[in-house]
Amino acid sequence: MGACVARFRAIVINKGEGGQSTTLSDFDENDLMEGDVTFRVEWSAVNYKDGLAVTGKAPVVRRFPMIGGIDAAGTVETSNHPEWKAGDKVILNGWGCGETHLGGYGEKMRCKGDWLVPLPETITAREAMAIGTAGYTAMLAVLALESYGITPDQGPVVVTGASGGVGSVAVAILAKLGHEVIASTGRPQEEGYLKELGAAQVIARQELTGPVRPLGKERWGAGIDSVGSTTLANVLSMTRYGGGVAACGLAGGMDLPTSVAPFILRGIGLLGVDSVMCPQHLRRKAWRRLESDLDRRKLAKMTDEIGLADVIDAGRRILEGAVRGRLVVRIG
Ligand code: NDP
Repeated sequence: MGACVARFRAIVINKGEGGQSTTLSDFDENDLMEGDVTFRVEWSAVNYKDGLAVTGKAPVVRRFPMIGGIDAAGTVETSNHPEWKAGDKVILNGWGCGETHLGGYGEKMRCKGDWLVPLPETITAREAMAIGTAGYTAMLAVLALESYGITPDQGPVVVTGASGGVGSVAVAILAKLGHEVIASTGRPQEEGYLKELGAAQVIARQELTGPVRPLGKERWGAGIDSVGSTTLANVLSMTRYGGGVAACGLAGGMDLPTSVAPFILRGIGLLGVDSVMCPQHLRRKAWRRLESDLDRRKLAKMTDEIGLADVIDAGRRILEGAVRGRLVVRIG
C-alpha cells in the first residue's frame, strides 16, 4: 500500500498515430524491463544509431515506449547474477539496448548480467562512454585487421568518416600501434584535428565517392570504413594486393556497388564488424586493448560533454555529419 515509486528522468521514445516522438520525460522504475542486474547509469553517449533512434529516421526502435541510448556506464545497485554485486562498475554496449531493450538515456537500467563488461581499472566511467560503442567498434575493427594478419609494414591504413566517432578513435588507435594512417574526411577544416589524433595524411571524401573501377591504383594496405556504399567500394578497389578492409558502418549508405575483382584478383579480405551481438570474450578483449592502445589525451581532445536535455538535438546533428569525434552524456 502506498509503496514509494521511484521515478527518473529519461529520453523516452513513443509511437503514436502521428509517428514516433521523443521527449525528456519521467519514467517509472517499476516499468524497467526484466534482468538480473539493476544499475545506476552515470554516463552515456551519442552514437550514429542513437541519432537514428531519437529522430525516427530509421526503424531502429522496435519496442515502445523506449528509453534511447545504446551505451551506458555506471554502478551496480542490485544483482542476482553470480559475477556482479552492488558497487561494481560496469559498461553496457549494444545487445539491443535503445532498440528492443530500455537503454542508457535514464538514471536506471536493468538488464542481463551476461551483457555487462567490467569497467577496466584505469578507465573512468566517463572515459568509457567517451569511447562508447563507436570507440569499441573501432577497436573491434583493429582487432579484425590484426586477426587477418595486417601489420604496419604492409602500408598505410585508410580510415573513412575519419572525423566521426568510429573514425576518430580508429585514427588514434592505429597511429599508436605504429600504422601510417590516411584519414578521409568531408570536412577539410578538420585536417589539424585529424593530424593531432595521429593521421599522417588527410584526403578529401570526394576521392572515394567517384565512379568505382573494378581495380584502382593500389594506395593502402588496409582500411577501416564507417561509410559504406561507393566509399567502401572505392576503398576496396584501391587496396593493395593481400590487404584487408574492415566494414563497420553505413553513414554514406547501405549499398555496396563493388565487383568481385578486388577479392579474386588481389586476394583482398572484406571483414565484417558487429558490435551489438559481439560475443563476450571479444568485447572484453576489445576493452582491454582500449585500456592500453588508446591515448587518453587524444580521447579527451575528441570528446565533448552534453546533458540529457541536449540528446535529441545531438541526435539530429550526428545524422547531418555535424558531430566531430565523440559526445559523452552526463546522466542525472
Ligand atoms: P558519426 O556520425 O560520428 O561518424 C560518421 C562519419 O561519416 C561522419 O562524421 C562523416 O565523417 C562521415 N559521413 C557522414 N555522412 C556521410 C556521407 N553521406 N558520405 C560520406 N561520409 C559521410 O557516426 P559513428 O562514428 O557513431 O558511426 C559511424 C557509422 O558506423 C554509422 O553508420 C554507424 O551506424 C556505424 N556503426 C556500426 C557499428 C557496428 O556494430 N557495426 C557500431 C558503431 C557504429 P567526415 O565528416 O570526417 O567525412
